[in-house]
Amino acid sequence: MQISQLSRKNVQALTPYQSARRLGGKGDVWLNANEYPTSPNFDLSDRTFNRYPDPQPQAVIEGYARYAGVQPENVLVSRGGDESIELIIRAFCEADDFVLYCPPTYGMYAVSSETCGISAKTVPLTADFQLDLTEIEKNLEGVKVVFVCSPNNPTGNLLKRSDLLKLLQMTQGRAIVVVDEAYIDFCPEASLVTELKNYPHLAIIRTLSKAFALAGLRCGFTLANEELISVLQKVIAPYPLPVPVADIATQALSSEGIEQVQSRITEVLTNRQWLIEELSKLSNVVQIFDSEANYILVKFTDGQKVFQTLWDQGIILRDQHKALGLANCIRITIGTKDEMEKTMNAIKTV
Ligand SMILES: *Cc1c(COP(=O)(O)O)cnc(C)c1O
Repeated sequence: MQISQLSRKNVQALTPYQSARRLGGKGDVWLNANEYPTSPNFDLSDRTFNRYPDPQPQAVIEGYARYAGVQPENVLVSRGGDESIELIIRAFCEADDFVLYCPPTYGMYAVSSETCGISAKTVPLTADFQLDLTEIEKNLEGVKVVFVCSPNNPTGNLLKRSDLLKLLQMTQGRAIVVVDEAYIDFCPEASLVTELKNYPHLAIIRTLSKAFALAGLRCGFTLANEELISVLQKVIAPYPLPVPVADIATQALSSEGIEQVQSRITEVLTNRQWLIEELSKLSNVVQIFDSEANYILVKFTDGQKVFQTLWDQGIILRDQHKALGLANCIRITIGTKDEMEKTMNAIKTV
């Protein structure tokens, strides 16, 4: 018998997350993972490596609470925002419960639920990439966790606040609503943190991977009320955060670190505007979708040809052709001005 046949049936059937790294590619312009294009520089200040770390390092928790405008007891730190997705499923879903999410959206909701053996219900976003509340309400039977993403990856738009509040009302006492705010630093006024006091079943996912330019650090957060946080505390690994990660995260969350985040955001927004203006002049661009994040979704007349042509030149974008309703669409991460110019020049040759 092959070892793989000894694995759980849902694991045998599992298609792992098609991460940017797994998809490969060769090049020097990487615009496929919504990373910041250059690395910040940090020195380690804590060199105690022989001891286990603090399970929830206080300086990290307090630093993020200050940044997010919540109390430390509303914050859980984990190995990236991705770990938070899995913790919530593991903590709240029985084998016969469902999760619900709304494609086209972030792929990890599907992968994490499949890995945990939890079935998913999907309710597609509307044509303008908003929540279909009527369909969601019809499908809530048996649903324990609803994942929504705002700004949504890969479309870039915010979900309407009034819809999110209606979703929170219709799920009260029945299910956890996870609002994935991985890109909220680019539009902080749209955050739902101010609603935490009203909704004990709201969980907000955050990360240092995007605006903080620290995808390599693997550090993310869940913001929620104390009772929900303490449920997640029960299932998280004993020492989720390595000492060097906590050290660098603490520095990134200092007032100096936050200032750098602000100037990065300004730069990304400027480059995003430039790219949108240049793309809108091209005849093979069908639509540039509104974005509040550090990437834009673009529909071309022949998206796959654009994707392949740039791939061959070492400019790696993210093909969305197979995502629900996104034929001929490509997601482009906002990089440096130089990278944006190279990308535009390459697109013009297609
Ligand atoms: C990047 C991302 C995350 C979390 O990423 P981590 O690197 O695991 O913190 C979560 N949700 C969405 C939509 C993302 O794009």
